[in-house]
Amino acid sequence: MVATPIGNLADMSLRAVEVLKQVELIAAEDTRQTQKLLNHYGITTRVIAYHDFSDQSASQRILQKLNQGESVALVSDAGTPLISDPGYGLVAAARSHGMNVIPIPGPSALIAALSVAGLPTDRFIFEGFLPAKAGARDKRLMALATEQRTTIFYEAPHRINAMLESCASHFESSRQVFLGRELTKKFEQHFCGTLAMAQAWLNEDENHMKGEFVVVIAGGDETAWQEARLEKAEDLVAELRQEMSMKKAVAFISTFLGLSKNELYRRVLERDQ
Ligand code: SAM
Repeated sequence: MVATPIGNLADMSLRAVEVLKQVELIAAEDTRQTQKLLNHYGITTRVIAYHDFSDQSASQRILQKLNQGESVALVSDAGTPLISDPGYGLVAAARSHGMNVIPIPGPSALIAALSVAGLPTDRFIFEGFLPAKAGARDKRLMALATEQRTTIFYEAPHRINAMLESCASHFESSRQVFLGRELTKKFEQHFCGTLAMAQAWLNEDENHMKGEFVVVIAGGDETAWQEARLEKAEDLVAELRQEMSMKKAVAFISTFLGLSKNELYRRVLERDQ
């Protein structure tokens, strides 16, 4: 598994060049894209196409080569194979046949972004691309609303605005966000600030929405999240009180949201004063 640059060709490792020269075959996500990299480094190894939706025969062909003692390198268009890129099926199959799979590590956009985001790195999660459909995206973000670890997403330019909008409706607008745009490339740009500021930054200049993005969001603060839930619960009680007694509304909402009935009751009374 050979990692390749995420934009800047000079980020190719010496070992990656050596390995790509030495293997019998290079399996590539997009053969034309890979050919540009190979030409740049004077690598003349034969290239074949491989993606996760390749028919079984592509995988079989590669496994057969490996079985015959040949070596095959897998590369993706950019960065580390398998990271939001093809290869998982091939690696799993090779492993299940007891074959040797060796990483030639190198660039990956998520690690590049995390290393400069200025957000906690001791524990983090990678969520890849959020679902394109709004309903599925909201469901995913809802599940992440209480996540306390730094969370990393990939996003395409035509969805970055909608993605941040969805984030703003599920996370507190004061959350710290890092946007890494066009990392390692000519127009590399970084944004650091709150979620609300990130949305404003994105919309203030149409160039800000162009290119490839890594979005890094600080983990949620448990206390702030609990406070936001209680405030929401108070609003719901206020609405329900038009239909039923306050006691009943508090019991109903606290059960529904899994909150302490006594605490909600106390807060509703305080709000009334
Ligand atoms: N395998 C790659 C890796 O290891 O990072 C990721 C491939 S994934 C199909 C492509 C996505 O990665 C882009 O949509 C973007 O979110 C992110 N990405 C890749 N290169 C990037 C760059 N130079 N700057 C910012 N994000 C990048």
